[in-house]
Amino acid sequence: MAGAGSSAFFSVAIVSLMKLLSDDYNRTINYLRLSITDRCNLRCRYCMPEEGVELLGHGDLLTYEEILRIIEVFARNGISKVRLTGGEPLVRKGVVDLVKGIAVIAGIRDVSLTTNGVLLAEYAGALAGAGLRRINVSLDTLKPERFAYITRRDKFKEVWAGIEAALSHGLQPVKVNVVVIHGFNDDEIKDFARLSLAYPLHVRFIEYMPMGHGEEWQNKEVIPSAQIMEEIRELGELRHGSHEENDGPAQRYYLAGGQGEIGFISPISSHFCTQCNRLRLTPEGRIRTCLFSDEEIDLRGQLRGAGTAEQIEEALHQALRAKPEGHRIGDIRFKKCQRGMHAIGG
Ligand code: SAM
Ligand code: SF4
Repeated sequence: MAGAGSSAFFSVAIVSLMKLLSDDYNRTINYLRLSITDRCNLRCRYCMPEEGVELLGHGDLLTYEEILRIIEVFARNGISKVRLTGGEPLVRKGVVDLVKGIAVIAGIRDVSLTTNGVLLAEYAGALAGAGLRRINVSLDTLKPERFAYITRRDKFKEVWAGIEAALSHGLQPVKVNVVVIHGFNDDEIKDFARLSLAYPLHVRFIEYMPMGHGEEWQNKEVIPSAQIMEEIRELGELRHGSHEENDGPAQRYYLAGGQGEIGFISPISSHFCTQCNRLRLTPEGRIRTCLFSDEEIDLRGQLRGAGTAEQIEEALHQALRAKPEGHRIGDIRFKKCQRGMHAIGG
C-alpha cells in the first residue's frame, strides 16, 4: 500500500502549500460562484419578469479566456471550488469547454454547476466527461402544469429527463433545489421529500429570499425550514446526515430507508453568514462580496486595460476586505439589492 501512503503524503503537502484566503471576519474563502450569462430560457416568476430583462451585450460578457485567467489567479490565492451558474449557464455556447478549462487549473479541486435542467439531457454526458463532478438542478414543482405556470414555459419533461441523464452519467451528487413559497408550491413538500426515497437525489429546500426583479417578495411567503422539517417528519424519522466540506450552509438529513438525502438552506430563519465561504463573479466581471450587497469590484476593466496578475490579485483582496459580516434581512437597515438573482448567479 505504499502508493496509497505516498498519495496521502502529497495531498497533505499540496494542502499545506496552498494559500488560504480569509476575510476580515476570519472566514476562509475558497469558493467562487461564477455567473457566465444573464440570459435564461425560463422566466420563473420569483426571479424574472415575463418580458425578460435588459440584457448585457455580448461584448460586455467576460470571454472564456478572461474567465480562465481570473480563475488561475484566484486558484493560486486559495480558491479551490468553482460553481458555474447564471442566468442559465447551459444557454451559453462553449460551456463544456469552459468546464474543461477550469477543471485542469492547478488548485481547483471541484467544479460544479447550477442549472434549470432544460438543456441538461443534451449536456450531462459531455459535462461529466469535461470534469464536472456535481450538479444542482432547480425544480420547484413536480406537476407539469404548475411548472408551466411558475416558469412561464412548458418544459417539465425536459427538466426531468435532464435529472435522469445526470444520474445515469454518474454526476454525484445530483441535487434538486426547491425554493418553497407559501401558496405556490408548499403543498408539494412531502412529494419532494419522497423523491429522496425513490432516487439517489439530494433534495434541498431553500427559503425564499428578497431579491430584485421577480414578483414582489413578502415575508409571509417564506416557509421556514423548521416548518418544512415538521411536515417531512410525517413521512418518517429525519436523521442527521454527515457534514462535508462542500455542504456550505446546508443542513443535511435523510429519511430512514431513503436512497438520497434531504437538505435545508435557511438564509432567512437562521443567518448562516458566519459560515460563508464564497465570492461571486457576475457575467460582466464584477466581484460581488455577498448575494445581498450591491458592493461590487470591477475586474473586466482591469483585464481589458491589460491588468497584470498582481492587479487581479489586488482586486481579490479588495473584495475580501469589503465582504460584509452578514446580510441584514429582517433588520430595519436591510435594503433589497438592485440586481435580480438571474444577474448575480444564485
Ligand atoms: N438558471 C439556473 C437555475 O435556475 O438553476 C441558475 C441560476 S438561478 C438564479 C439559481 C438558483 O437561484 C435557482 O435555484 C433559483 O431557484 C434560485 N433563486 C432565484 N431567485 C430566488 C429567490 N428570490 N429566493 C431563493 N432562491 C432563488
Ligand atoms: Fe432562469 Fe434560474 Fe431565474 Fe428561473 S431561477 S428565471 S431558471 S435564472
